Amino acid sequence: MNNKMRLRFPLPGRKDLQEPAYFFDDGLRFECQRCGGCCTGEAGTIYIARDEIGPIAAALKVTRTELIRGWCYPFRDSFSLREKEDGQCCLYDHGCTIYAVRPRQCSTWPFWFDIMRSETRWQKAACKCPGIGRGRLHSREEILGRIAASYPGPAADPAQG
Ligand code: SF4
Repeated sequence: MNNKMRLRFPLPGRKDLQEPAYFFDDGLRFECQRCGGCCTGEAGTIYIARDEIGPIAAALKVTRTELIRGWCYPFRDSFSLREKEDGQCCLYDHGCTIYAVRPRQCSTWPFWFDIMRSETRWQKAACKCPGIGRGRLHSREEILGRIAASYPGPAADPAQG
């Protein structure tokens, strides 16, 4: 039986975040293979925080209003990118068209709270993502940072509120 603790609610700013032992204490390998698997397929939300709207609009050479009207719908305190009928992200076209400024939700994958809660969840995610287990080794500290960044909240989204 794995004696390492499951991740416990790593809310940004919690001081005990780095104290417990996790299954990723020795780091984990991940490098996106740009297969598009997570940008297509099942429908979902693609959250963009308020501070991400400007850079994405600039990358698309449109105004913030045009981006919101043309590619977004209201979600939580901000917006989600729309999807095509088949579930594909509206900004995916044989690859992410805004990769350099892609939403935090995308850039922090697969180091999401729901996945990093247990090794079983990580392995399950690996079945869908060929980038998991490949490439650069991400340290425990880096992984914890990404989890915190991926978690919607004041520390992850300074523009919130
Ligand atoms: S499924 Fe994994 S390898 Fe494929 S684009 Fe998404 S993150 Fe990259």
